[in-house]
Amino acid sequence: PIKDSVLEIISPNVHVDDEFIETDYEYKTSNVKRIDGKVQVYPETTALKIRTARNVPKLGLMLVGWGGNNGSTLTAALEANRQQLQWRTRTGIQKANWYGSITQASTVLIGSDEEGSDVHVAMNELLPMVRPNDILVDGWDISGLNLGDAMRRAEVLDIGVQDQLYENLVGLKPRASIYDPSFIAANQVGRANNVIKGSKMEQYEQVRRDIRDFKQRSGVETVIVLWTANTERFCDVREGLNNTMEDLKTTLQANKAELSPSTIFAMASIDEGCTYINGSPQNTFVPGLIEMAEAKGVFIAGDDFKSGQTKIKSVLVDFLVGAGIKPVSIVSYNHLGNNDGKNLSAPEQFRSKEISKSNVVDDMVASNKILYGAKEQPDHVVVIKYVPYVGDSKRAMDEYTSEIMMGGHNTLVIHNTCEDSLLATPLILDLVILAELSSRIHIRSASHSSTPWVPFKPILSLLSYLCKAPLVPRNSQVVNSLFRQRAAIENILRGCIGLPPISHMTLEQRFD
Ligand code: NAD
Repeated sequence: PIKDSVLEIISPNVHVDDEFIETDYEYKTSNVKRIDGKVQVYPETTALKIRTARNVPKLGLMLVGWGGNNGSTLTAALEANRQQLQWRTRTGIQKANWYGSITQASTVLIGSDEEGSDVHVAMNELLPMVRPNDILVDGWDISGLNLGDAMRRAEVLDIGVQDQLYENLVGLKPRASIYDPSFIAANQVGRANNVIKGSKMEQYEQVRRDIRDFKQRSGVETVIVLWTANTERFCDVREGLNNTMEDLKTTLQANKAELSPSTIFAMASIDEGCTYINGSPQNTFVPGLIEMAEAKGVFIAGDDFKSGQTKIKSVLVDFLVGAGIKPVSIVSYNHLGNNDGKNLSAPEQFRSKEISKSNVVDDMVASNKILYGAKEQPDHVVVIKYVPYVGDSKRAMDEYTSEIMMGGHNTLVIHNTCEDSLLATPLILDLVILAELSSRIHIRSASHSSTPWVPFKPILSLLSYLCKAPLVPRNSQVVNSLFRQRAAIENILRGCIGLPPISHMTLEQRFD
C-alpha cells in the first residue's frame, strides 16, 4: 500500500519501497504508415518500467506578478485553505475550497466494484503530490504594494474572507522586478514603483540572487517560477537576437532592447535549475530559450492559462466535430474590467492574446477530413474590450455556427459570467503540483536492465490541459482538445501505479 493513500494496488507488477513506486508497464500504441491513400496500422506493445519517486519535496513557488489579481488571490486562497477559513455571505456560510483545481477537486475513475458501480478517487490520491497547504509563496512585482493591500486592490474575494486574511498578508512584500515599458501597455506605468535598476545582465543576476535568497531563507528544496504578470507584446524572433542559446547569451550581455523581461526571468530560472511556467500569452519561449531548457534539462511549460472561454471552446468544438457537425464560424467577445483587461486594451498586448486564443481549434478541425478540406478553417474572431465597471467579473459571449445535415444550420450562443481570477488561481495550483510531480517520474525500457531512466522532455506538454496555447516538444502534435489533455494526465498517473488507461470498454458489463 502507498502510505496515507486510500488506494492499494494489488499486482505483481507494482513494487513499492520507501523511495519509489515502480511498475512493469505494457505500453500499447498504434504506429501508422500512409501508403497510396491507404492507412496501414501497426499495433505495438512496449514493455516499460515507470518509476515515481515518493519523496515530496518542500516546494516554493515564486510568482512574477505576485501582487496582481491572480497572484494575490492564490496567496490568499492558500492561506484561507490552510486555516480552513469560513465567512458569512448574503446566502450563508462559505468555506475555503479549491473548486476548479483538477488535482484538488476532481476525481478519477478507478474501476467497477462487485456490484458494477463505478469507483472514483480524488486525483491527488493516485500518487504522492505536493499538498497546497505546504506550498510557500514568494515573488516579484513592479508594484510594491504588500499582499494584503494587493488583495484589496484586486477586488476578487468576498470581504468576509479578505478581512480575516488581511493581517496575514500585509507583511508580504513583492521583490522588485524588471520593468520595461516597451513590453507592457503604457497604461501600467502608474504601478511601476518597485523596479530593479541597471542593465539587463544586472537584472538577470538579481533575479537569480532572489531565487537563491528565497530558497535559503525559507528552506524549500524545490522552487518553481511562474509568470502571472501582465501580458507582454510579442518580441521579435531573429538570428543574432534570440534564435539560439548563444544568441541569447550575447543579447543579454549586449543589453539589447528586444530582450523581454519575461525571457530574462525564464533564463534566470533555468540557470537556477528551476521549472519555469508561462501563464500569459507572450512568446517568452523564443527558440534560444527552448534550446537552453533542453541543454540544461530544466522544465518549461506554457503558454497562457486556459481558464474560461478557451476551455469551453476546446470542449465544444471537440464535441461538434466529434459528432460529425461542422463548425463554420466561431465569434468570441469578452469584456472585463480588471487590470489584465486594462493592459489588454493596448493593441500590441491584445495581439498576443488574440494569437494565443486563435489556434485552439486547429487540431480538432484537422482531425476530420470529411468535414473540412485541406486548407479549410472555420471563421474565428476574438474581441476583447476593457469595461472597468465589471471589474474581475469577466463576460464572455460566444457564438458558434455549424453546418448540420443537408444544409441546415445550428447556432449556439453562450454567455459566461464569472470572476476571472477565481478561474485562473486553481490552474496555477495544478500547474505547479503537476510540474513538480512530473519531475519525479521516469521511464525506461524493461527489456534491457542497463538502459538509463529517462525523465519527461524539458518542454512539459503534460501541462497542456491548463494552457491555451500549449508548447510541445519538437516533432510532437499540439493537442488542444480538453478531453484528450485530461485523459493524458489521468492515464499517465494511472500508468505510474500500474493501472491500464481507462478505456470505457467495460466488456465485463456488456457480455455474459
Ligand atoms: P493583473 O494585472 O492583476 O496582475 C499582473 C501583475 O503583474 C500586476 O500586479 C503588475 O503590477 C505585475 N507586473 C507587470 N509587469 C511585471 C513584471 N515585468 N514583473 C513583475 N510584475 C509585473 O493580471 P491578472 O488578472 O492577475 O492576470 C495575470 C496574467 O495572467 C495576465 O497576463 C493575463 O493575461 C494572464 N491570464 C489570466 C487569466 C485569468 O485571469 N483568467 C487567464 C489566462 C491568462
